[in-house]
Amino acid sequence: MSNMLRESPYPMVSIADATAMIMAHTQPLGSEEIDALTALGRVLATDIAAPEDIPDVPKAAMDGYALRAGDGLAPRRVVGELTAGGDTTVALGPGEATRIMTGAPMPPGADAMIPVELTEERDGMLFIKRELKPGDYVHVVGQDVARGQIALTAGTILGAADIGILATLGLTRISVYRRPRVAVLATGDEVVEPGETRPGGAVRDSNRYALMAAVREAGGEPISLGIARDDIAVQRQAILRGLEQADVLITSGGVSMGTRDLIKPLLAELGTVHFGRIAFKPGKPTTFATVNGKLVFGLPGFPVSSLVSFEVFVRPALRALQGDARPFRPHVEVTLDSPITPAPDRPEYQRIIVTYRAGRLFATSTGGQGSSRILSLRGANGLLLVPAGETVYPVGSVLPALLTGPLLSEG
Ligand code: AMP
Ligand code: MG
Repeated sequence: MSNMLRESPYPMVSIADATAMIMAHTQPLGSEEIDALTALGRVLATDIAAPEDIPDVPKAAMDGYALRAGDGLAPRRVVGELTAGGDTTVALGPGEATRIMTGAPMPPGADAMIPVELTEERDGMLFIKRELKPGDYVHVVGQDVARGQIALTAGTILGAADIGILATLGLTRISVYRRPRVAVLATGDEVVEPGETRPGGAVRDSNRYALMAAVREAGGEPISLGIARDDIAVQRQAILRGLEQADVLITSGGVSMGTRDLIKPLLAELGTVHFGRIAFKPGKPTTFATVNGKLVFGLPGFPVSSLVSFEVFVRPALRALQGDARPFRPHVEVTLDSPITPAPDRPEYQRIIVTYRAGRLFATSTGGQGSSRILSLRGANGLLLVPAGETVYPVGSVLPALLTGPLLSEG
């Protein structure tokens, strides 16, 4: 026991400094060309200029009759019927009209249309109840998207509407930022596969699976490196194997003060450790290193610490790597629905459920905030930023928070 370190050799950095160091080493990965129609959630790497006008020809905006406005209120002879996608057209002369359906191209000679509701048709003649101006009810060229207009900008996270815009413009191949490949390694002699028989005292590997899911949610491609025993050669080999395949490596466990905590010295041997301690709860021993330009995050073993540290320090990096122009979660102010006890020594990110009610955001604690109590993460859609201190924040206090999931709404 005498060879146990009493004090970490790593200086304690602030949350802001830790974030700044990580982001300083994080540049967007290259781009790749993919199928635009299945690009949901990807980040656009270039601006998209519209290659053509939408619509490309004048079209009927409603079901009705195409005609010449200059004919005034006089009855017209109905000379045909035009449908969207139909293959006939007619040229309209003075005193003529044609039935036309929404989306059908306007026929030559017509300069306006009238909705069917404002007309009567008898014996091949059209009677209209309202005088028209040229252009009435015509969907003009470029009205929806003008040729050359920037329809989408680089850095956009593609949502359903964006997929629709790309389809409208016929852009089926687009350039997006590459997703980071993220290798995830669990460590610990006591850690076993969740599906295997668990020897007494052993712990099932929840971190690797939770972190891989969090990587996927952040837009990355997780790669499992399995569980490494607390053996320096085994862990070195696993880390090197991860760095070969991935852009980012995340380890779980082995970063605190125990004699079997080997990750920090290994990272110092293989690359540069930028920090090894953060004034932050839960997750003080969170470590950040670079090895051959690749990012390595040594996350703590306790399940809550590992996921909260991922959320606060790793996720923004994964978002920035894939070109997201806004890699951080929204910062909001919440009113406490339950009292909150701060940690005396470090700022703490407490798990909360944020609800929108009567124009304000309210926060309810998820209960005991111990770093092994994984249920403190259940249902949480926010992290409350609680400054270090001794005084309990009563119900009604206002504190800053990060929104980490969809807002719940009441009433
Ligand atoms: P460590 O930071 O390696 O000392 O781990 C601290 C504690 O976290 C261990 O005693 C385990 O109870 C727990 N732990 C470590 N790794 C995992 C894991 N992959 N999944 C779940 N719990 C873990
Ligand atoms: Mg361990």
